[in-house]
Amino acid sequence: MALIVQKYGGTSVANLERIQNVAKRVVKTYDQGHDVVVILSAMAGITDSLIEMAQEITRAPEKRELDVLLATGEQTTAALLAMTLNAMKYPAKSLLGFQAEVITDCTYGNARIMEIGARRIKELLEKRHIVVVAGFQGCDMEGNITTLGRGGSDTSAVAIAAALKADSCEIYTDVNGVYTADPNIVAKARKIDRISYDEMLEMASLGAKVLQIRSVEFAKKYAVPVHVRSSFSDEEGTMVVNEDKSMERLVVSGVTCSKNDARITLIKVPDQPGIAAKIFTPLADAGIIVDMIIQNRHSGKFNDLTFTVPKPDFEKAMELARKTAAEISAEDVLGDNGIAKVSVTGVGMKNHSGVASHMFATLARENINILMISTSEIRISCVIDAKYAELAVRALHTAFGLDKA
Ligand code: ADP
Ligand code: ASP
Ligand code: MG
Repeated sequence: MALIVQKYGGTSVANLERIQNVAKRVVKTYDQGHDVVVILSAMAGITDSLIEMAQEITRAPEKRELDVLLATGEQTTAALLAMTLNAMKYPAKSLLGFQAEVITDCTYGNARIMEIGARRIKELLEKRHIVVVAGFQGCDMEGNITTLGRGGSDTSAVAIAAALKADSCEIYTDVNGVYTADPNIVAKARKIDRISYDEMLEMASLGAKVLQIRSVEFAKKYAVPVHVRSSFSDEEGTMVVNEDKSMERLVVSGVTCSKNDARITLIKVPDQPGIAAKIFTPLADAGIIVDMIIQNRHSGKFNDLTFTVPKPDFEKAMELARKTAAEISAEDVLGDNGIAKVSVTGVGMKNHSGVASHMFATLARENINILMISTSEIRISCVIDAKYAELAVRALHTAFGLDKA
């Protein structure tokens, strides 16, 4: 008998019929003698409509209240699934984040899980109950409701699996697993059978939203094997595990794309010690995460400095950049939120040359201009105009030999 954590995403619980389908899967596992903890997302689209509703009241809703509101999406599905299971004569109870003792820091909207008590989950499991936990939510030390950032139910699931030392953590979604590229963009994308935590981390941080990045961090830290699969079929999905010899060691194993960032350029910044600190300290103090940074010589004793920030922080970052620009007498500040970051990833890149040039040549062939470049040991990213994002992903997928036959 095993302890199995199953997480179902928004499309899998989009209506009562789909919740029935989820209940059948849960019961199947339970009837095999296993203990089952189910983590749920809100119904597809609900989190977005709750955000829109809040924004009809004010453009910047109080973050604490927004989290109270957003947490209702997962509260609804958790209760509905527990009811469905009870109606099928199975013992089931729903728990909200705070009842499952998912303790987070107090960063509303993007809280980090600090610890999970899970006392009540364990008690219910002892009594052979099916435990249904509302994903995406927790509470801080003061008892305020917090949410874990978009896609955060994945992290709830992996963190609860780690806390319970579960035998497996299954992430049920609307695709059959992790693919070499988003299968909704690249029809020829191939499903990956096994992927290492490190590669999955890169893909998740570069836009493959199939797993929230923090869930992969948790999985790696606590060695939780994660099985990403579809709730609409019985096909085996993708195992996310430690790197091993059986994995295909392709030079490039995935192509990703993200439209979550915006670009800011300061023109004619004085070339002096301390200038970069003056520009980036206010951003850091405001909690804005700067991703790529490039500095070019302008002319004379001046540089141009360009960086990217998350789109939701764009306006705030522009305001801070304009203020600093005035202080240091920079000539101008330009902003652009119509960009995309396309990336190729792969552990095989570590000891292979020519990947970057192949990527640049492929984009050039499609007449796509590269605005910024950044690299790590296992990834190369280019910022381009957002309108070419899908074209770029398809071209790179073909160019690196990833298309399925
Ligand atoms: P859920 O609601 O189940 O959490 P998400 O919408 O968050 O589902 O994540 C699944 C989606 O992730 C897929 O529908 C797919 O469009 C997208 N996706 C992006 N990149 C990839 C990839 N490399 N492999 C699989 N899916 C991907
Ligand atoms: N409902 C939340 C969201 O839409 C969390 C999740 O689905 O994982 O982001
Ligand atoms: Mg998701």
